[in-house]
Amino acid sequence: MLTNDQLSQWDRDSFLHPSTHLAQHARGEVQGRIIIGGEGCYITDRDGSRLLDAFAGLYCVNVGYGRTEIADAIAEQARELAYYHAYMGHGTEASVTLSKMVMDRAPDHMSKVYFGQGGSDANETNVKLVWYYNNIRGLPRKKKIISRWRAYHGSGLMSGSLTGLNLFHRKFDLPLDMVRHTTSPYYYRRDTREMSEPLFSAQCAADLEQLIDTEGADTIAAFIAEPMLGTGGIVPPPEGYWEAITPILEKHDILLIADEVITGFGRLGHMFASPAYGLTPDIMTIAKGLTSAYAPLSGSIVSEKVWKVLEQGTDENGPIGHGWTYSAHPIGAAAGVANLKLIDSLGLVENAATVGPYLTAQMQAALGDHAHVGDIRGEGMLTAVELIADRDSRTYFDPDRKITPQIVAAMGRRGVIARAMPQGDIIGFAPPLCLTREEADTVITATTEAVAEVL
Ligand code: PLP
Repeated sequence: MLTNDQLSQWDRDSFLHPSTHLAQHARGEVQGRIIIGGEGCYITDRDGSRLLDAFAGLYCVNVGYGRTEIADAIAEQARELAYYHAYMGHGTEASVTLSKMVMDRAPDHMSKVYFGQGGSDANETNVKLVWYYNNIRGLPRKKKIISRWRAYHGSGLMSGSLTGLNLFHRKFDLPLDMVRHTTSPYYYRRDTREMSEPLFSAQCAADLEQLIDTEGADTIAAFIAEPMLGTGGIVPPPEGYWEAITPILEKHDILLIADEVITGFGRLGHMFASPAYGLTPDIMTIAKGLTSAYAPLSGSIVSEKVWKVLEQGTDENGPIGHGWTYSAHPIGAAAGVANLKLIDSLGLVENAATVGPYLTAQMQAALGDHAHVGDIRGEGMLTAVELIADRDSRTYFDPDRKITPQIVAAMGRRGVIARAMPQGDIIGFAPPLCLTREEADTVITATTEAVAEVL
């Protein structure tokens, strides 16, 4: 067996890690964990520490770790047929079955699903489909995409541009020219303290309409949004937000892309978040919970309205020139089929709808009055604790103090993993959907103790 020192050496010498301070890592100043096993909500590292993963990897291991049903489905698929492509109408039993299962769960007005590998490439696909759609409709100028500040839609050229967090743009020459960003529906960080939630929502809608007017509606193709903001801070939409936004999109013939990479397959206590918020998206992005990350797979679900135009386009122009080698990869599809069956049989959507709000409510009870806790919010199995230097003025801590990373490290020492969200002092929680109340209590105790240790 490799020694820990040997592994660390190889890691520093050979591995260019995603979303990591590369120089610090190369100098050995970033101590990542090497994980060797997982069971339910817990993972085990090489030192034998057992940690409650209250972020489900990256909000993705929805059914929890160690599910033999999915492992067996993957192994069986690999033995029988590890790969065949999906070009020119080909497929596998797994990919066809998964498409049927996804569409059975999607809102009624949705029509078909295109499979990719991850959320980023699914959003690249979505933008290409939107451009194709408007070209076929004879509207070649209608191409810009509006996203929101603090959105996260991925790290590709277009998906990274749609992302509204500066960290993902810095020194990469993003965002690309076809993208515009509008106001983030982040009520806690509103400018005017006295503004009510409905008024703030109306302000967000007015900002969007003004942007559309400035750019010209004839140049705007789509509005992309997470139904509830994820990586930007775990922020449920303020009251009246979606009711104010959607009529503007309809009025200006702007498609709605609902990015359900985090919210899809139960995280908010519904199979999908869009219908729960009264949204009828034209395209939906899915990934993460589709396979619970047992294998990489994503999807772009298109509505009947979009599908009809795509059909027309290929009748006029021949096969659609968009495909990945790994579209609908059979191993990902087999994982997806087994995963969706488990979500149903274990009642995980219902569990997210009960244990998730319990976690948020208990967190509020434990930390709501703390002098440095500004906001505790959440929906389903997504919770955030926002820390502030001063409660009244809502001033941030000096970023150099690294308050949230320190708290998250202190939680790790207590056996619980949470995430220091990338912008602002926000501790994020997105546990597997199988979290029990007892496990939620463990998360709350570790958080409370860690906050007390650091602040
Ligand atoms: N969209 C949303 C809402 C996400 O949260 C993420 C990843 O966290 C992505 C897209 C990108 O997905 P991936 O990392 O699989 O490319």
